[in-house]
Amino acid sequence: MSFKVLILGSGSAMPTISRNPSAQYVFCNNRHILIDCGEGTQLQLRKYKVHLQKIDTILITHLHGDHYFGLVGLLGTMHLLGRDRGITIYGPSLLEKIIRMQTEIEGYSIGFDLNFVHLDGDVSKEIYNDGVVSIDTFPLNHKIPTNGYVIRECPKKLKINKFQFELDQVPIPAAHLFKDGSDYTSVDGVFYDHKKYTHAPDKSKSYAYCSDTKYDERIVEHIQNVDFLYHEATFVNAQKDRAKKTYHSTAEQAAKIAQKAKVTKLLLGHISARYNSVGTHLDEAKAFFENTYVVNDGDEIIID
Ligand SMILES: [Zn+2]
Repeated sequence: MSFKVLILGSGSAMPTISRNPSAQYVFCNNRHILIDCGEGTQLQLRKYKVHLQKIDTILITHLHGDHYFGLVGLLGTMHLLGRDRGITIYGPSLLEKIIRMQTEIEGYSIGFDLNFVHLDGDVSKEIYNDGVVSIDTFPLNHKIPTNGYVIRECPKKLKINKFQFELDQVPIPAAHLFKDGSDYTSVDGVFYDHKKYTHAPDKSKSYAYCSDTKYDERIVEHIQNVDFLYHEATFVNAQKDRAKKTYHSTAEQAAKIAQKAKVTKLLLGHISARYNSVGTHLDEAKAFFENTYVVNDGDEIIID
C-alpha cells in the first residue's frame, strides 16, 4: 500500500523553464489519478516516468487554460498508443463540450470511452469510492466555477496479531473475518473473539488539493485534519491586492487556511512566474504554519 503525489507542474498561468502549469499525478493504493492537466503535462509524465495508460481518473478543477490545455493532447496520445480502456474525467460541464469538439475537428474519435462527470464548482460531495480510495469535491472561490478535491484512503482492515493467532492455533479461515471485525466459530463449536487476535489498522491518510482560490474560510470544513494540503500561493503579501483582484491567494493566506483546518503539512504551489525565488513565500507562510513547503516540478511527496 502506498500513497504518493508527483508534482508535474507547480507554476501558475505562464509556464517557465522551471515551473510547468498545474498538474499532479497521485498514486494511491494502486489507483492512478491525475489532478489538472496544464499544457505539457504528457511530457512531464514521460519525463518522470509515469505510465500514462495506467491513469484512469482525471480531476479537473476549472477551465482556466493552465489547468486543462494539456488534456486533449494527453487523450490523443493515449488513443495513438492503442488504449481501449475507458477513462473518467471529473470537471466542469463545458469541458466535455470542448474536448468532444476538439477531437471532432481533428476528424477522428477517441478509441476509448470518455466518461465525463460534470462538476461545476457548486457542490460538496463524495464523487468516488471503491472501498479502498474515496474522492470528495467541494467549491473553491475563484473567478469561474472551480472544484477542490480531497483524496482519502478508506478505513483499513484490522491487522492480525500473528503471535496470538498461531499460539491458539486458530483455523486459517478465521483471519479474513477477523480483519473485517467479525468473530469466528469453528465447525466443532469453538468461539474466537476477533478482538483477541487483531491490532488496530494503520491510519488512513488524506490529501487535499486547493487551486485556484482566493482566501475563503468556507474551504476549511472540507479539508479539516487532512494529512497534506496543497494550496495555491500564487502571490506574496506585496501583491496581496492583486491576489484579491484575481481571486488567488498569498502564501500567508494559504498558511492561515492550513492552520484553521489543522492539517499536518502544507504544500505551496501555483507560484507566479514573477518570482525567481520562494524565500518570501516560505517566510510569510511559516509565520502562521511552520510545517510548510514550496513544491517544485518533479517533487515526489510521500503521504505518510
Ligand atoms: Zn484559475
